Amino acid sequence: MKLNDIKLTNPYLSLPEECYTRVEASPLKNTFLIHANEKLAQMLDIDVNELNSDDFVKLLNGELQTEGSDTFAMCYAGHQFGHFVPRLGDGRAINIGTISTPMYGEQHLQLKGAGQTRYSRSGDGRAVLRSSIREYLMSEAMFGLGIETTRALGLLGSNHRVYRENWEKGAIVLRVSPSWVRFGTFEYFSHKKRYKELEALADYAIAESYPHLVDEPNKYLHIFTEVVGKTAILMAQWQAVGFNHGVMNTDNMSIAGLTIDYGPYAFLDDYDFQYICNHTDSGGRYSFGNQPNIGEWNLRALMLALSPLVSSERLEKILEHYPRLYTERYLYLMGKKLGLKSVTQEKDLDLFKHLLGMLQGINVDYTLFFRTLSHYDGDRTALLKIGLYHKPMNDWLDSYDDRLKEETTTTEERHTSMFQNNPKYVLKNYMLQEAIDSAENGDYTIVDNLFKIAQDPYLEHEGFERWAGATPDEFKNKKLSCSS
Ligand code: AMP
Ligand code: MG
Repeated sequence: MKLNDIKLTNPYLSLPEECYTRVEASPLKNTFLIHANEKLAQMLDIDVNELNSDDFVKLLNGELQTEGSDTFAMCYAGHQFGHFVPRLGDGRAINIGTISTPMYGEQHLQLKGAGQTRYSRSGDGRAVLRSSIREYLMSEAMFGLGIETTRALGLLGSNHRVYRENWEKGAIVLRVSPSWVRFGTFEYFSHKKRYKELEALADYAIAESYPHLVDEPNKYLHIFTEVVGKTAILMAQWQAVGFNHGVMNTDNMSIAGLTIDYGPYAFLDDYDFQYICNHTDSGGRYSFGNQPNIGEWNLRALMLALSPLVSSERLEKILEHYPRLYTERYLYLMGKKLGLKSVTQEKDLDLFKHLLGMLQGINVDYTLFFRTLSHYDGDRTALLKIGLYHKPMNDWLDSYDDRLKEETTTTEERHTSMFQNNPKYVLKNYMLQEAIDSAENGDYTIVDNLFKIAQDPYLEHEGFERWAGATPDEFKNKKLSCSS
C-alpha cells in the first residue's frame, strides 16, 4: 500500500466527547527521517519503498493528508507516585487514526512530540531527540524480546529548537499500538462520576482489546479479570528479563497489558533487586524489585475506578488471584531461562531464591550471566570469570547441577532452548547514550545498529559483540532524569 492510499478510521471518536479533544498536529521545522521500521511497515501492509519518500516525512510530521484522518488527543487521569491527578491526557501525543490490518487487527497511529493539546498543561507538546531515540529503540527491543509493547514506525529528526535544561532538537516518534487506553482513562471518568462515559469506555476497551467478551453478561467483571491476568504476565516478563520501567503511574499502565510510555527506563546492569532507574523516585516506589507490587497497587486503582460498574467485592475476589498469577508466570519464565522442562513451586522455588540471592551478592551482569549459563556444560570457568566471588556461584551451580540430573533433555537441547530464552543483547542505557551522542552530531549509524540487535536479541550478530558484555563500570546502575 502507498502512503497516499492509507485509509484511516477513528473508532475512539465514537466515544462521548469528554473522552478526547480534536487537535491538529503542529509540524516541526526542518525535518528529516532518522529511521524507519520496515518490519512494522510490512505488518501494516505499507510498501517499504514508501519509507524513503517525502510523504513518509510528512506523515511523521503530521502534514500528510490521509483519507479519513481526524486528529485528536485522548483525555485521562492517573495516580502519579501514588497521588491522584484528576486530569492528565495526551499532552504531546496526537492520534492520527487507525489502520485495519487483516492479520494484526486495528492499529492506532500516534505522533509523540507533535505539539500542544488541551492536556499539555505547562508543557510545550514536544519531545526531544534523546528521549525519542530511547522510545523508538526500546519499544522495538521489547517486541524483539517477545514482551507485549507499543511499537514505532518511524523516527523524525529536526532542527526545531526545544528547551529543556538546555536547548535541544525536537523529534517525533510515530507510535503504533492496538490500544492507547490506560488505567488512568477509567480513573478520569470514575472520579468525575461520569458513569455513562465510564460504561462507554469499558465497552470500547472490551471491543478493542477483549472482543471475545463483547456479548458476555458479566463483561465488566471479565475485563478486569483479563487486565489482572495480562498485568501479572507483563510484570513477570519485566522481572525475568531485568527491565525497570521507572514511571509506573496508572496513566502509564495499559488496559491491554502492553509496555507503554518509555521514559527513564533501564535494563539491569549488575543484578540488583533494589535498583531505581528514575532519578526523581527517591523512595524507590518504582524500583526494579517493587514492580510486581506496584502492578497490584495499580490494579487496585483500576478496580476502584470500575466499581461503579461492578460490585467491589466481586472485583476484589479477582484481584486476589494476582500474586499467584504473577508467581506462576515468573517461575515459568525463570524455569525457561534455566533450561528446565517443567518447574514446580514446591520443587524449584528454593533453587530460584538461591539464584537471586547469589546474583545479588556477586556483582554480576544479569543478562550476561544467563547468556553465559546458556553455554554451561559442567565447565564453570566462563561463569566464574563474570562474577566477583566464586564461592556463592559454585554453591549455586552445585544445586543447579543436581537439578539438571532430574531433566531428561540432552545438554545440547537445553542449550538450544536457553539461547531462545536468554537474550544476548539488551539495550542498556550506556548503549543508548552512545547512539544519542552520535545522533546529536548527525550520525545515525549506532541508532541503526542498535535497532538491528534489538529486533533479534537472541541471535549472535557477529561484529556487535561489544554490546553483549557487562556494562563498563563507569556506566553501571546510573539513574535517569524524567526530562524528555
Ligand atoms: P509521562 O510520565 O511522560 O508519561 O507524562 C505524564 C503527563 O505529562 C502526560 O499527560 C504527558 O502527556 C504530559 N507531558 C509530558 N511531557 C510533556 C510536554 N513536553 N508537553 C506537554 N505535555 C507533556
Ligand atoms: Mg505517560
